[in-house]
Order: sequence, then structure tokens, then C-alpha cells
Amino acid sequence: MRIVCIGGGPAGLYFALLMKKLHPAHSIRVIERNRPYDTFGWGVVFSDATMESMKVWDPETAAEIENAFNHWDDIEVWIKGTRQRTSGHGFVGIGRKKLLNILQARC
Ligand SMILES: Cc1cc2nc3c(=O)[nH]c(=O)nc-3n(C[C@H](O)[C@H](O)[C@H](O)COP(=O)(O)OP(=O)(O)OC[C@H]3O[C@@H](n4cnc5c(N)ncnc54)[C@H](O)[C@@H]3O)c2cc1C
Repeated sequence: MRIVCIGGGPAGLYFALLMKKLHPAHSIRVIERNRPYDTFGWGVVFSDATMESMKVWDPETAAEIENAFNHWDDIEVWIKGTRQRTSGHGFVGIGRKKLLNILQARC
């Protein structure tokens, strides 16, 4: 099967990567109008649950992302001098450009 994916953002790149892994005989072309290092400046956040899914589908990408991400868990809120601390907010954060470059390299 020949697949053309319009748009090489995170979704297009990850789709192409996983489709090729699942069906190596498929021909997959990703068409992106921007250059690899053009991107919007914000960061991307993934929950721990998302990272667990990524480890199942493509451990190599998950490992590269985890190496480049910052991880946090507990969140503290200070209100009028008292600290409120909650747990269970496992997240990783990365710059969007870095995430795209990891996915581009994997593809
Ligand atoms: C300020 C901000 C903060 C955000 N923070 C988060 C976050 O923390 N976590 C999170 O998960 N999401 C966040 N998002 C949402 C984020 O945009 C999406 O998660 C992510 O970018 C979606 O990826 P995508 O590949 O679906 O789309 P996009 O990233 O929009 O990628 C689409 C790609 O298609 C290309 N394209 C479009 N039309 C064409 C065409 N005709 N020909 C060729 N190429 C084309 C574009 O250039 C682009 O590269 C944030 C969004 C904003 C605006």
C-alpha cells in the first residue's frame, strides 16, 4: 500500500513511524510544508500514562523522549503562607522542536 500523509507534525510523524513498524512493506511519504527546524515555540507535555503507551508501541522513541524531557510529579501550591501539596501528577515536558527532531530522526 502507498500512503501519503499531509503534515509532518507530531501526529503525522508518529503515525508514519508506527505504520511502517507494523507494515514494513508499505510505502509511506510524509509531506511537510515547513523545514525540519521550523516550528512554533511552545513545549509539549505528556502524562506518565501516555509515556507507558509510547513504550509499548515504540520503545526507542519513548527512551529518547524520556532522556530529553523534564519529569515532574508532585505539585505544590502556596496560599497565604501555607503549602498545599498534591501527588499523582506524573508528567514529562519537552520543547516542541526537540520532540519533532526526535520523531524526524526515528522516521
Ligand atoms: C500554545 C499551545 C500549546 C500546546 N501545548 C500542548 C501540550 O502541552 N501538549 C499537547 O499534547 N498538545 C499541546 N498543544 C496542541 C498541539 O498543537 C498538538 O498536540 C500537536 O501540535 C498536534 O500535532 P499534529 O501533528 O496533530 O498537528 P500540528 O502540530 O499542527 O502539525 C500539522 C503539520 O501539518 C503541516 N501542514 C499543514 N497543512 C499542510 C499542507 N497543506 N502541506 C504540507 N504540510 C502541511 C503543518 O506545517 C504542521 O507541521 C498546544 C498547542 C498550542 C497552540
